[in-house]
Amino acid sequence: MLLVAHAAVGGAMGATARREPRARGMVLVAVGALVSHVLMDLIPHWDYPFSLGWIILDIAASLAVFGLIAWLVRAPGMVFWGAFVACIPDLEHVLVSWLLPGPVFVSHVNWFPHGQAGLVPGLLTQAVTVGVAFWWVLRLRRQAGANRRGSGRP
Ligand SMILES: [Zn+2]
Repeated sequence: MLLVAHAAVGGAMGATARREPRARGMVLVAVGALVSHVLMDLIPHWDYPFSLGWIILDIAASLAVFGLIAWLVRAPGMVFWGAFVACIPDLEHVLVSWLLPGPVFVSHVNWFPHGQAGLVPGLLTQAVTVGVAFWWVLRLRRQAGANRRGSGRP
């Protein structure tokens, strides 16, 4: 999937674990983010043709998604960690041409059933994925607000 979809789901995981003890939260989020990358690559999706312009656009969109989630739950560190780890397997697409002989991450190797779809359905599946991630983050934010009100703190 696009980096922006991976960033949204990884960021939502970071948001979910924001109250965990630091080390425990970081391990849980890293494992969850990597598993989410594999599962999301199974869902039929559209990948852009490999070019610098698309990559920059995708990274910019991912940073915007990270920033929005971090702002919604006030947890930039853990949200960044989740988004970063969820995106990092795709770094190998850049490395394959000059450092790696071929892809090594599980959802990028040849035998893996990488989900593919045309432009419109392939963007829709990713839009829905991003939508679900934001629905979850907004739910966390509402819960946190309710807890604050319940405890009598302003
Ligand atoms: Zn991937």
